[in-house]
Amino acid sequence: MAERLKSCVRKSDTLARLGGDEFVLVQADFASTAEVAHLAEKIIRELVAPLTLEGHDIHVTTSLGIALFPEDGLDAKSLMKNADTAMYQAKAAGRNAFRFFDASMNTRAVERLDLEASLRRAIERDEFEVYFQPKVVLATGKVSGAEALIRWKNPERGLVSPLDFIPLAEETGLIVPIGEWVLSEACRHAARWRQNGQLNGRIAINLSARQFQDLHLMERIEGILATTKVDPANIELELTESVVMSNPAETIDILKELRAKGFSVAVDDFGTGYSSLSYLKRLPISALKIDRSFVMDLPGDADDAAIARTILNLARSLGLETVAEGVETVEQANYLSEQGCNLAQGYLFGRPMTARDFESWLAKDAL
Ligand code: C2E
Ligand code: MG
Ligand code: MG
Repeated sequence: MAERLKSCVRKSDTLARLGGDEFVLVQADFASTAEVAHLAEKIIRELVAPLTLEGHDIHVTTSLGIALFPEDGLDAKSLMKNADTAMYQAKAAGRNAFRFFDASMNTRAVERLDLEASLRRAIERDEFEVYFQPKVVLATGKVSGAEALIRWKNPERGLVSPLDFIPLAEETGLIVPIGEWVLSEACRHAARWRQNGQLNGRIAINLSARQFQDLHLMERIEGILATTKVDPANIELELTESVVMSNPAETIDILKELRAKGFSVAVDDFGTGYSSLSYLKRLPISALKIDRSFVMDLPGDADDAAIARTILNLARSLGLETVAEGVETVEQANYLSEQGCNLAQGYLFGRPMTARDFESWLAKDAL
């Protein structure tokens, strides 16, 4: 058992056998409580396999209690005592389980692990769908394209908002396969709509930080271009302001490569992060998307109106297109249009909808 436990931990951890069947592990540094929960799961998995002693299979169960410093105790004695209490709760829960001493921490850890487990299965179970939200030309009201937005329909949880699972997918790396799936679905539709003459605009696809940093991004994109036969001129990639600004030198190279392939790139949620303007000027991007938080209270709120105008002026002088997000009222649309905003997207024009509904929407728009 000691050998197996040792295989789960790092050199910097301390593992001790206190006596009998009790072991103590001190993890001196960890990034998140989720990481601790993962380690606990790994240990349980490792110890659950039977041992063979003199030809007999011996099954051992594991109960694990976790106390965190400094929340659950300031010294070894109180930490051990609380870890012990948590361990008894794990035992009571039916063994081969772990418990945090702090009940709310425990609930969160369990929920997260559950969510992660169902997220892992979501692709193979075909639970994702890509919705499309129209983007229109403000001056004419005609469609210019759409943004692809993922939806997760889980049989137990119902419809889960991307705001609730994209961050977790990002943290666990699951965003890479999920994002690749979105890319290929959106490209497939874009190619079909162009071929059928339904839409020759751009379909915008969100790329998360992790996807953007993925070393195989270009290969994955090449693969998708080959299978879907989409024209990159019909695809726009959206990167948030914080992703674009986080690693300037590297970002420029990747963006140039994407640009060379024929993709356009838009900066999403613009205004919510920190932009270096001199750097922005050098970026091979085509559009800024004004974050919904600045659009929401237009035209009444003087501060938001000033911010929106500033972004529009900035974009104009850099030769970039502008897209306003979250336009819900005619007043917002009129104001933005007067101030020179090119494109808009929001419930006023159309909510995110299934590919099929978007096709009907396009048919009506063409009338
Ligand atoms: P985003 O890229 O900024 O997308 C715009 C969000 O605003 C969408 O939320 C959209 O449904 C919502 N929205 C659009 N118009 C209106 C409006 O008039 N009023 C209001 N109140 N909301 C509006 P959604 O679909 O929940 O997506 C949230 C975020 O999740 C997205 O923000 C994006 O950052 C992320 N996301 C969605 N799909 C994907 C994906 O396929 N990949 C990645 N990496 N991220 C995604
Ligand atoms: Mg977006
Ligand atoms: Mg946005």
